Amino acid sequence: MSRIPEAPLFPMGEEFINDNFSGAVWLNMLIPLGSDLPVANVTFEPGCRNSWHEHMGGQVLLVTNGRGYYQEWGQPARELRPGDVVQIPAHAKHWHGAAKDSWFSHIAIEIHPEKGPATWLEPVSDDIYDALA
Ligand code: MN
Repeated sequence: MSRIPEAPLFPMGEEFINDNFSGAVWLNMLIPLGSDLPVANVTFEPGCRNSWHEHMGGQVLLVTNGRGYYQEWGQPARELRPGDVVQIPAHAKHWHGAAKDSWFSHIAIEIHPEKGPATWLEPVSDDIYDALA
């Protein structure tokens, strides 16, 4: 199992207690909510992923550490490693998070935040997540 990042590229911030994540997650707003382009550094413990959700204006993920996944509804999961870029279309139902055996960090950029907050849906089922390597 990879260890918690000793020298993360961006500071991890505080642990974020939230029902929309399956485990422990750390959130550091690099550019605050309420700005024209909110940017967050998000760090997932191994096995932690968020629930299915949709962004009203879309989202961009820039992977900075570890190994994880991105999946759009109806599509196979995409494995993610540092340097990967994910463009998430507006209103696309999706989830993102860590692999079972790895910490995972990405920068999350909210596109057109004036269109409203994300819509949170059901958790990712164990059947879907456990099928991933
Ligand atoms: Mn998202």
